[in-house]
Amino acid sequence: MKVIETECKNALVKTKIPGCDYTLNPYIGCQHACIYCYMSAFFKKMGHKEEWGELVKPKTNIHEVLEEQLKTGKYEGKTILMSSATDAYQPLEKKYELTRKCLEVMAEHDVGLDVLTKSKLILRDLDLITEFKKANIGVSINTLNDEVRRVFEPLASTPEQRLKVLKKLKDEGLKTYAFIAPALPFLTNLEELFKELHETGVDLIIFDKLNLKTGCLPKVQAVVNEFLPEYSDFYSHASNFKWQNEYWQEQRRLFKKLAEEYKQAAAFAYRENFKEAKPIIEYLK
Ligand code: SF4
Repeated sequence: MKVIETECKNALVKTKIPGCDYTLNPYIGCQHACIYCYMSAFFKKMGHKEEWGELVKPKTNIHEVLEEQLKTGKYEGKTILMSSATDAYQPLEKKYELTRKCLEVMAEHDVGLDVLTKSKLILRDLDLITEFKKANIGVSINTLNDEVRRVFEPLASTPEQRLKVLKKLKDEGLKTYAFIAPALPFLTNLEELFKELHETGVDLIIFDKLNLKTGCLPKVQAVVNEFLPEYSDFYSHASNFKWQNEYWQEQRRLFKKLAEEYKQAAAFAYRENFKEAKPIIEYLK
């Protein structure tokens, strides 16, 4: 993998992601190299010739820019998400500590924190994260099977490690959420995963499927054809990935049933009305 250091002019970008006001991405690109990543198409559009996961650009001055922005007072009381276009705790973070430096800056200001990651490295920064008055920490996980994880999310932490992260965060008194996304047909065992997540004490479980608009289906199909040919047939039809498909209707029913059974706060990432498809947080009481 190639690493090219870069500098940024702006650290905070306004977002419509529910519950967050701004996003902060300390890196361009992501070493986790998830096959289904919605960012890979944007990465190409930005003019990069490398495949997604082959190039990462650490924004080496991001904490200084962030400090300047937060000093203006304009962001007081706002919630900042790390991250929307990268994983702030990818392996490179061990060396660069940009996420940590940003946390040090944020902890000095009146802002809320939201982190979504697939890495156990987040536990390194518990000392800082626990300083925030408002912090929601999320972990993405779509399987308990490490062989599946290896195929789809080559450099992310194992499912077992991610469950431990959620448990530890909860033990530290933090608010946590699990993001089952993207659910992978026949590979995401919703019943088993939901049970394990619930046992970590997680505050909220969110469910979503593959987003076809991001153009990553061909990559996913290629991987399934190579490593999991028994599922090739289902994966070969884009129409099977629409919410209206009976498979997803069944998964949604199951998700609701599990939420009720475990009395677990849970949410779909998208509205029932597929045409609107606006992200929401829908708590199932
Ligand atoms: S961890 Fe997130 S940003 Fe990184 S490759 Fe995977 S899906 Fe993309």
